[in-house]
Parts: sequence; structure tokens; C-alpha cells
Amino acid sequence: MTDDKAYDVVVLGAGPVGENVADRARAGGLSAAIVESELVGGECSYWACMPSKALLRPVIARADARRVPGLRQAVQGPLDAQAVLAHRDDYTSHWKDDGQVDWVTSIGADLYRGQGRLAGPRTVTVTAEDGTVTTLTARHAVAVCTGTRAALPDLPGIGEAKPWTSREATSAASVPGRLIVVGGGVVAAEMATAWQALGAQVTMLVRGDGLLPRMEPFAGELVADALREAGAEVRTGVSVTAVERTGATVTATLDDGSALEADEILFATGRAPRTEDIGLETVGLVPGDWLEVDDSLRVVGSDWLYAVGDANHRALLTHQGKYQARIAGAAITARAAGVPLLETDRWGAHSATADHDAVPQVVFTDPEAASAGLTLAEAEAAGHRVRAVDQDLAGVAGAGLYADGYTGRARMIVDLDREVLLGVTFVGPGVGELIHSATIAVAGEVPIDRLWHAVPSYPTVSEVWLRLLEAYRG
Ligand SMILES: Cc1cc2nc3c(=O)[nH]c(=O)nc-3n(C[C@H](O)[C@H](O)[C@H](O)COP(=O)(O)OP(=O)(O)OC[C@H]3O[C@@H](n4cnc5c(N)ncnc54)[C@H](O)[C@@H]3O)c2cc1C
Repeated sequence: MTDDKAYDVVVLGAGPVGENVADRARAGGLSAAIVESELVGGECSYWACMPSKALLRPVIARADARRVPGLRQAVQGPLDAQAVLAHRDDYTSHWKDDGQVDWVTSIGADLYRGQGRLAGPRTVTVTAEDGTVTTLTARHAVAVCTGTRAALPDLPGIGEAKPWTSREATSAASVPGRLIVVGGGVVAAEMATAWQALGAQVTMLVRGDGLLPRMEPFAGELVADALREAGAEVRTGVSVTAVERTGATVTATLDDGSALEADEILFATGRAPRTEDIGLETVGLVPGDWLEVDDSLRVVGSDWLYAVGDANHRALLTHQGKYQARIAGAAITARAAGVPLLETDRWGAHSATADHDAVPQVVFTDPEAASAGLTLAEAEAAGHRVRAVDQDLAGVAGAGLYADGYTGRARMIVDLDREVLLGVTFVGPGVGELIHSATIAVAGEVPIDRLWHAVPSYPTVSEVWLRLLEAYRG
């Protein structure tokens, strides 16, 4: 049976990004359909941001409390792992999407459940679980917001070994005795932090020479030091060559010929776009590719197809994808009304310039690592004439109050030609809440001379800004 319907905008994927594209289109007076094959709310709500942060919050709060004299003694015991897992379950609404479905209804968008696929220009088919096919036609735009899945390396035995991906690492119902974490990026570092604190014996196997390779090198060093102090083993310069499961035991063979046993093995080895089965070939694109877009999030070479959020590979972060959704929604609405876009206006509502100028990210490890904009290596590679200014956070009065023996570091990257900041990185307890100040400084291109007049309150960790500016002026 088939059924045909027409909308102004059809959105493929109801993750945080697809939801926001639909919302912005509706706010602009357009009709919108949204297609979802799993749970409305997407990876972020059920197997990524929300459950991972629910697991990590008690870990970080306990670590912070243990650094406060007078409080330390009260929090010496282990975490109540079952209570943490139960809180995580509540936080993910027990993997039910009723609340988010209500929200989609409240914005006046129509939800279609099933696998969505392009079937030529401006056309999407939705195949429901019972085999029913609905054809949706888009008068103005189709937005691909299908996100990513975990990318597993092609290793002998990996399929039979039933490894954890980010999905199992965020939804597991019990704590494994021994957990191998393969990878050194954000997901690997966060999940190693969470499961080690919840009682697993974690071994990290990192192919490169350190953790968090996309941040300033000191971020990975401080996080690795802390993981080791917490009892995890962090091995660098090592690769897994094969995996095998025998009963409850999984064995990883390493490139030095040795083997390592555990109860579970998590592969946190990158992400792949969910574009392999969405009909890209029907519109002249290659299935399985990331979708290349311009700053209005429109796919290069198309006048109706948009790719927003993870699927375009610009910045695999929920907040950045939702920012893109606001931009895409505004661009689609303007184009539908025949209003010319100010594509050259860097500060305009139709251009996602922050994707390349000022992406903020917080890694919820202990210590937290947070950055906005470029690292020193990225700024130099982009051809800027820069100076890196470093500051030990231990010397900051507010940091000493925040935590006894506060350990942390900050770096700001100054564009010497324009005397503005290109990037800032903070590592230390509590810095996740500090990073927005850096995002404003970088995105707003606030001149260093003006930053002198942005006075941080005493005694807060934010006083690191004064120390950084003093160090720059000399
Ligand atoms: C473990 C982990 C922790 C993370 N933590 C954070 C964090 O703390 N902060 C942060 O900013 N980012 C975090 N991220 C990244 C964040 O999850 C993603 O950037 C975000 O989910 C991207 O949103 P999206 O809407 O583009 O895609 P998704 O959230 O992946 O949603 C895509 C949706 O599309 C649906 N879909 C796919 N194909 C089809 C189809 N053919 N038809 C219909 N529906 C389809 C999917 O079922 C899914 O619901 C984390 C990621 C991981 C893996």
C-alpha cells in the first residue's frame, strides 16, 4: 500500500538536529514532516550525550568533593553503581520517546516512523515496520539529519566477539569486572573514566601517543595521568590486531604479539555517517559518504537538499548540530519566501560560520577538558601568525578555593596580526562551565584590549583570564 503526502520541508532523522530543523521550519510558517526509524530524540538522547553524562556526573561530583577539606571524609566510599545506572535509565526516559513525540506534535510537525530514503529529487519514501510505504514530497527542502553510527575496525573475530560500541557503553545494565577500551578520543576517555569509577578494571589501548588527539597535547596528558591515578591502565602506541570471545571472556591480540583478556571490550574508534541506505544514489550522490555542505548547510551542487548535524561531518557535537539546524531552518525559510540570503555576511542568520571559527567542546572527564576555537597546531596549520600563552591553573586564587591542590592548565592562542583570540583550552576541575567565556571571546573576536575590561569575579577559577592576559602583556 502507498500513500502520498506533500510538505514544505521533509526532515530525515529525528535526532536533536532533525527536531530543531523541523522546529525552525515550523516557526518560519512552513509545514514539516519528520521521519524516524528508531527513537525520536536520536543517538544523543538514548546512547550518547544524555546517558554518558548521567554516568559521569556522580563520578565528577565525587572527585570534586574529595578535593574539598572537611567534605573529603564524607565521600570516601565507592559509588553506588546500581543507583548511578538507575539514574542513567531515568535520564534516558528508559529508552522510550513518548515525551519527545509529544514535543514534535506540539510544534505542529507530522512524525512518520520508518526507514526514510530519498527516491529522486524532493521525494522521500518511508517504509514502516509493517512494510507500508508512504511517499513524501518536499516543496522546498529535504534535510538529511541521520547522524552517525560507531565505526568498527575490520579485525579478525570482531563480529563474533560482540564488542561494545558507544551504544552498549552508555546503556549497559551492569558493571563489567574488566573492560578494555580501544581508542583515545573523547568517547574512549569519557567511558574509561565512568566505568573505572563505577568499579570496572579499565585498560585503555591507544594507537597514538596520547589521549584526546584533537585538543592541545596537555589535555590528553592531564586526563591520562588522572585515569592512571584512578587505577586504570592507559597504554599508548598499541594496536589491536584480532579479537576473540570464549564464553564470558574476550581476548584482544595486540600488535606486539601479546594478548589481553577482559569481560567486555569497547571499540571507541570513530564514527561513520548513516547515509549508506538513504537513497543517495537516486540524486547522484554516493551512499555511505559524509555530505558536503556550504555554510547554509545546503549540499554542494543541490538547490533543495540539506545535510545538518553529524551527517555533514563539520562538528560531531549536539550543540553545534542544533546551531546548524537554526541556520538551516532560517535559510530554508528565507529561500522559500524568495528572500535573498546574505551568504557573505559572516554574522548573519544564514551562515554557520561558527563551525569553522569557534566550536566549543567539553570532555567530561576528571579533570574536565574544554576548548573553543583552534589549537596551536590548527592555528599554525591554517597560516595564522600566533602566540600561545600558557597558565598553570594552580596559581589562580579561585582554583585553590575550588579544590585543594587544584591541578589544571590553560592556553590561549593569540592572533598576533589582529590581537584577538583564535582558541582557548582549559583543563581542570569545573572548567566545563568556564568555556563559554572563551567561546564568546573567540566567536565575538573581542580585541585583547577589550578583554582587559572584562573583569572576572574574585575568587573564581575565571581569574585565569587575568593571569593569561598578564602573561601575554609581559
Ligand atoms: C558516547 C557519546 C557521547 C556524546 N556526548 C556528547 C556530549 O556530551 N555533547 C555533545 O554535544 N555531543 C555529544 N556526542 C555527539 C552527539 O551525540 C551527536 O553530535 C548528536 O547526536 C548528533 O545529532 P544528530 O541529530 O545529527 O544525529 P543523531 O543524534 O545520531 O540522530 C539521528 C537520527 O536519525 C535517525 N535515522 C538515521 N537514518 C534514518 C533513516 N534512514 N530514516 C529515518 N531515521 C533515520 C536515527 O535513528 C537517529 O534517531 C556524543 C556522542 C557519543 C557517541
